[in-house]
Amino acid sequence: MAEKNLYLTKIQLRAELERCLNCKSQPCMNACPVNCNPREFINFAKQGDMAQAVKTICRNNPMGQTCGLICHDKFCMKACTRRNIDFSVNIPKVQATILENYQQPRENYACISPNGKKVAVIGAGPAGIAATSVLAKTGSLVTLFEASEQIGGALNMIPPERLPHEVIERDWSFLANDRLISLRLNTRVQNPLELLDEYDGIIVATGEPNCINLNIPGEEFAIPYIEYLYNPQKYKTSGNVAIIGGGNVAADCAFTATTGGAKMVEMFVRRRLSDMRIYKNEYLELLKRQVNISSLTSPEKIIQKNGNLSLFVHKNYFDGEKWLPIPNTSIELPGYSLIVKAVGSRADLKVTNEKIIYAGDCKTGGSTIVEAIASGRAAAYSLNEILL
Ligand SMILES: Cc1cc2nc3c(=O)[nH]c(=O)nc-3n(C[C@H](O)[C@H](O)[C@H](O)COP(=O)(O)OP(=O)(O)OC[C@H]3O[C@@H](n4cnc5c(N)ncnc54)[C@H](O)[C@@H]3O)c2cc1C
Ligand code: SF4
Repeated sequence: MAEKNLYLTKIQLRAELERCLNCKSQPCMNACPVNCNPREFINFAKQGDMAQAVKTICRNNPMGQTCGLICHDKFCMKACTRRNIDFSVNIPKVQATILENYQQPRENYACISPNGKKVAVIGAGPAGIAATSVLAKTGSLVTLFEASEQIGGALNMIPPERLPHEVIERDWSFLANDRLISLRLNTRVQNPLELLDEYDGIIVATGEPNCINLNIPGEEFAIPYIEYLYNPQKYKTSGNVAIIGGGNVAADCAFTATTGGAKMVEMFVRRRLSDMRIYKNEYLELLKRQVNISSLTSPEKIIQKNGNLSLFVHKNYFDGEKWLPIPNTSIELPGYSLIVKAVGSRADLKVTNEKIIYAGDCKTGGSTIVEAIASGRAAAYSLNEILL
């Protein structure tokens, strides 16, 4: 998780390139939601043609370097033939390293003639950025509305040791263009319908901005993960931290707390350890950082006591259909400086209109960067079909 390991060294890059078997069936490409072609960019890189390698990576992906740093191994790496021999080529790291070391081509919009359409994209996360990229390249004038002060959406909650924010800005800088794209930060769109007078079509890519509640007494003492991960400095503590939840996001909360110097971090997970929705490397990192994980445990109540927080929890069992509390297992765990709730989030309510298309996490539920990008691109092509 240390920042210095984000990219491959020259020798490591060469070794990974050489491990690629140049498979004709290209399972890696077929497994990628944006159909990135690792075999092709690896071949160009092997021949020393880095400009073509970069072009290949960026062909379908406006956030190539960001994806390279955080894409999970369930896509191209899972499909890699090399996995059956020893272990997969580390395709995302190869991709990130190539883009870190060799300049991406700036989008050349000069030869694109405007198609006369004005479109709005709401939300500058991966789905909104991908939609903007496709729409601008097909000649629409795009206004990208973003409620917050920065682009990147939920990616900004990822701890910087996994994803430095400059990488998101860097990817965006090769796409940005004043002639076709107008980025409006700090501009929340209350209702997409209100934009239809001014725009021919709208893509809504607003993610899932509403944290799910615990619905327990004392809920107000638990900080929602969105608030915590956007402002880790504000909640930095050397005391004990409880994280309610057992998914990737809860794991990132635990990493943030340990990096911030918390004395003890404990995760409370409603189901079994094997049900936790995290990847193996995340689990191993939790163990390495000595994060306690209490499985089959649910929060019941939070109270303030002697300047700290007490968390009351009970144990659960599975009755064959659902998880239920085991009677008389309630205990008080005192002495927390911070309790963070990370049990999921929800999208805003949707409106229905043929010229409004939803994309990314607000459409599909929590996903991954590359799936959100694929969804944003698909939404842009669908809007083009309606408008052009
Ligand atoms: C802590 C954390 C860690 C993650 N780690 C990984 C990872 O390692 N690998 C991976 O592949 N994925 C990861 N993800 C998931 C990934 O970040 C999301 O799947 C992806 O960002 C979804 O993209 P999106 O564009 O659909 O939505 P978002 O990224 O959520 O972007 C939505 C944007 O819309 C804006 N917005 C919302 N409402 C409005 C409005 N009314 N008006 C204007 N703007 C609005 C928001 O401010 C936000 O910028 C992680 C997510 C989190 C929270
Ligand atoms: S599947 Fe693996 S070995 Fe085959 S072309 Fe893709 S990266 Fe190379």
